[in-house]
Amino acid sequence: MEIQQIYEQLGIDPAVYAFGEDVLSGLTARFQAIDRTAEYNQAKVLDAMRRSRVSAQCFAQTTGYGYNDLGRDVLERVYADTFHTEAALVRPQITCGTHALAIALSANLRPGDELLSPVGAPYDTLEEVIGIRPSKCSLAEYGVSYRQVELLPDGTFDYDGIAAAIGDRTRLITIQRSKGYATRPSFSPAQIGELIAFCKTVKADVICMVDNCYGEFVDTVEPSDFGADMIVGSLIKNPGGGLAAVGGYICGTAACVENCAYRLSAPGLGQEVGANLGQLPAMFQGFFLAPTVVAGALKGAVFAANVFERLGFACVPNGAEPRNDIIQAVTLGSPERMLAFCLGIQSAAPVDSFATPVPWAMPGYDAEVVMAAGAFVQGSSIELSADGPMREPYAVYFQGGLTWYHAKTGILMAVQKLFEKGLVTLP
Ligand SMILES: *Cc1c(COP(=O)(O)O)cnc(C)c1O
Repeated sequence: MEIQQIYEQLGIDPAVYAFGEDVLSGLTARFQAIDRTAEYNQAKVLDAMRRSRVSAQCFAQTTGYGYNDLGRDVLERVYADTFHTEAALVRPQITCGTHALAIALSANLRPGDELLSPVGAPYDTLEEVIGIRPSKCSLAEYGVSYRQVELLPDGTFDYDGIAAAIGDRTRLITIQRSKGYATRPSFSPAQIGELIAFCKTVKADVICMVDNCYGEFVDTVEPSDFGADMIVGSLIKNPGGGLAAVGGYICGTAACVENCAYRLSAPGLGQEVGANLGQLPAMFQGFFLAPTVVAGALKGAVFAANVFERLGFACVPNGAEPRNDIIQAVTLGSPERMLAFCLGIQSAAPVDSFATPVPWAMPGYDAEVVMAAGAFVQGSSIELSADGPMREPYAVYFQGGLTWYHAKTGILMAVQKLFEKGLVTLP
């Protein structure tokens, strides 16, 4: 059977398939570069696993307090080694990315300190962690103040503004690598490194934390290679490789990570407790697969940008720009197109393919949000997913794909739904 026939069986019109193949024919060099990064990162992870002497004993389940958990300690060694940091905290008890970031911040700030974001507003969920929007147990309630410096209109750092904003009380600087659900650019580890170096010339002992969500393994280097004191992320995104069922990580200096361990468990207990509850095999194996999984997601993002640009829609990043995360924003310009796009992604999912995404009022958002996700792990966004707020400019944010072929199918299916409903014309 021809490949085109199996796509037809999935409901993809031969004209849509042919259009996709035409776009793909121009992406060979891009895909080769992505493969080379994956090859490098695969070797990097393997090297860390060899040096940390990962063994079958590391997969044993622990319960209760989790004292003497060999696997947990080795996994943290593997993360620290891979990201070139002194220490790491990698736990299933960290419930999500927001939780990991909240731990990193609250563990390393004290009453009277000030937190600074030199890259404009942080990710939505951090607004309540910080207390930008009043919230119970926010940093603001504990006497930590907050300040932010906007990016310049061209998306670069406002160094004068940042220098002026760093004061006696500035203790921690938070830098978000990925654009998240904003329209600013995402930053490369090297760009973040420049910003960190600048901040440290203004104030040598300031702690620099990077929200690394969606950025892991997109490059051969990470912000921790450029002076970050902590990098933080979620295991149901890139570094979990699609296999980790839950978790978050904080990698950084021994001093910062130690504080985080006390904050996560309790003062006096720290890193010595925390049963692994049988999650370690998936956490190790997911991290091992993460470089190739991220490569598949990146190919999907590059393909999506090129497909939708050819169909006349604005894409961030555009089809030719380098990538610093796995998120692809596509401005579709109408609610009908957003729904059709998400229906396509949903119907290409291995789980819940029969569901129809409908907009709903999600807590914390000012407009209804539509989401397409048919994931093995609930809410996992290293798996193929798309979402966006139902308001101008009607932009959908697309990310993930455990394999490149699944990402490709999802994108073709999104085009198919738009095509069927007469919402696009194929070039
Ligand atoms: C996803 C994300 C978060 C929050 O992670 P959750 O796991 O959804 O809590 C924070 N920052 C950025 C940039 C993200 O992409």
